[in-house]
Amino acid sequence: MFNLHQVNKVFAVASIRNIFPGLLDILYPRHCFACDKSLHEEKNTYICENCLEKTKESEARRCVKCGFELGPGIASSSKGCPECENTSLRFEKSFFVSDNKGPLKNLIHQFKYHKHVCLTKPLGDLLIGLLQQDIIPKIDVVVPVPLHWKKKQERGFNQSELMAKKLCWKLSLPISINNLRRVKNTLSQTQLSRLQRQKNVNNAFKVKNPDIFLEKNVLLVDDVLTTGITASECARNLKNAGAKEVYLLALARSRL
Ligand SMILES: [Zn+2]
Ligand SMILES: [Zn+2]
Repeated sequence: MFNLHQVNKVFAVASIRNIFPGLLDILYPRHCFACDKSLHEEKNTYICENCLEKTKESEARRCVKCGFELGPGIASSSKGCPECENTSLRFEKSFFVSDNKGPLKNLIHQFKYHKHVCLTKPLGDLLIGLLQQDIIPKIDVVVPVPLHWKKKQERGFNQSELMAKKLCWKLSLPISINNLRRVKNTLSQTQLSRLQRQKNVNNAFKVKNPDIFLEKNVLLVDDVLTTGITASECARNLKNAGAKEVYLLALARSRL
């Protein structure tokens, strides 16, 4: 079971490593969290150069709305692409590092399920690298996709919240935590069909204090997007509270 002591240990090892790199490399040999290669010779602390490069590789064109990789001859507009135009996604634009595959998939798995919170920084940096300069001045407030309090307690942290905090700190943007709330402890979406997913997130979110979002442009931060139904439901609640536009920033685009 994961606890605060383990989180503190990871942070402590990470910060002591900055002070005594040689000694800690002997006590706790560094390995890439994506491919397990030894990082002894590398300056990076958690991801090897090769995996980092692979993760940053730019990919084929994506739908500006849902991020679906567009095949040859398929176009997208502000209304979406053939994949999403019938699903009425309520956010306007989305940004992804890559599809959910290769080193990025491994890193997200290590971060979420093996609770390596030290990956917050490199993964947060990947998100920051994605934000186009023309979008940043439009953002009034950043909102991580919330977990139900029971799930957050079980995991020990909300991965989207950790990355959003890192991003806000670096870009000097305000963050809103605990205002958009997940009030229903939903089933994991991974095994559900599109229809079941929609049913699962109906009435799952609530805004506590709508004034915070009134006339604001919101950047929603998530880890992985599959159908976009959860993020869209968050956007719907934010807009009902008065938000103008909602952009989505996530690490990976997955497929059903
Ligand atoms: Zn690697
Ligand atoms: Zn689309």
